[in-house]
This record gives sequence, structure tokens and C-alpha cells, in this order.
Amino acid sequence: MKKQVLNSLSLIVFFITFYAFAQLYYTRNFNVSEDLDLIIGERSNLSANWVGSIDVDQNIPILILAGHADSQGLAGAGTPGEAVDKFGLNPMRTGISDELFWNLKLQESIVKVGKTRGLNISSYDPGIRNIDDANDPRTNWSVGRRFAKRGGYAIEIHFDAYGKYGVGSGLIPPFSEMPNKIDESIARTFGRFPISFRGGLGAPRRQIRILEIGKLEGLLEKNLRNLKTRQKTIKLIANEIVQAFLNGII
Ligand SMILES: [Zn+2]
Repeated sequence: MKKQVLNSLSLIVFFITFYAFAQLYYTRNFNVSEDLDLIIGERSNLSANWVGSIDVDQNIPILILAGHADSQGLAGAGTPGEAVDKFGLNPMRTGISDELFWNLKLQESIVKVGKTRGLNISSYDPGIRNIDDANDPRTNWSVGRRFAKRGGYAIEIHFDAYGKYGVGSGLIPPFSEMPNKIDESIARTFGRFPISFRGGLGAPRRQIRILEIGKLEGLLEKNLRNLKTRQKTIKLIANEIVQAFLNGII
């Protein structure tokens, strides 16, 4: 009996020690690379030949929208991501897709960084996570449409589906407006989608740009989920987007 207890005790000690060393090894070797290409993964390789050449006023109002913020529980909730859908991990927050979770985090960071760097930038969050009618005045698309009509630059951020379900990163320009220099600048950093992607999606038809950051999978998703690399990863992407804005208006 005594021997048995001793045996299981030593087994427990062994596992605790093993776990501690594994943790140490894991965190030591897991640093966010500063390389955006490595983080966001592949870009869209769809053929797109638009060029954004329209000049943009330096003080153009910019509105950042988080994709799927008003369409949870409907068909358009956004991607659950590879971690949840393929590997069975818990969603980041129950009730919303992982994509929306990250869209909201990134939205906040872009506005924060953008303001410190002098952009005329703001965000909108409908707050209500389920609005059935896309033309309800409180949806992302309705608010973005009005914003764009008044001459602002409205852009909705997304993370793309993983694996074969997604395309990769890139900008979808507005449907019936000539792409401008901000569009061009963002496309040079993140890649570009054709204007008529999927027959012209709901947002671009309302002159709202769509930015696919990257597929929610692999290194990008791991770096977002890991608490040690999360903030750095979000900030890295936010910085790249803000820099692209600045490059487009100057
Ligand atoms: Zn999306």
C-alpha cells in the first residue's frame, strides 16, 4: 500500500516537472515575429487588376467597422476559426464567433493607434449582435453607407476562414466608386481582391471597403490565442493598417 502511494506520488512529481519544463520551453521559443507576412499568412491570389489612384484629403474621416458585429446567430456570423472548428478548442467567448471576437479587439486597437498618429479615425459598434435586416439603420452597413456618402472612408475588418474555405488577406474595394490612394496603399500591404468578388458583396455595394486580415488559422491564430503574444500581435497588425492609411493620404 505504502509503495503504491509512493509510486503514484513520484509519478505526479514527474508530470509536474515535465509540465513546468514544457511550459518554459514553449514560451521561450514562441515570440511574435515582426514579420507581417509570416503572421498573416498567404495573400489572395485571385486576379485583381484595379489600381487606386484617386487623391485623398489628409483629414478624411475614417470609420472602422468590425465584421459580423450585428449578424451573430445568423448565417453570416463569421468564421469560428481553425482552433475551434478543426481542433475542437473552446470559442474565445460564448455566443459570438471567434472572428468577431478578434475583429472587435483589432477595431479598438486600430482606432487607438490611429488617433495617436493623427488620423481622423473612429469606430462604430451596433452593440446589438443580431439585427436581421441588413438595412436596419443601426447595422454596420447602414452606418458605413451613410458615412461613405458624406465623403468618409468606411472599412470593415475581417479575418478570413481557414484552409480551403478562405482566400487569404486582401482589400475588397468599393463596388461603384473609383479606388483611391488609401485603397492602393492597403492593398500593397495586405493584397487585393477583385472588385466584383462574389458578385459584389453587401458592404462594397454600399461603398464600404472590406479588409481581410488573414485566415484565422495557424501561426496567426496561435499568436492571437496565446496570452503572451496576443497584445503584440494585435498591435502589429493595427500598426500596419494605420501605416497604410498614412501612406495613402500623404
Ligand atoms: Zn468575416
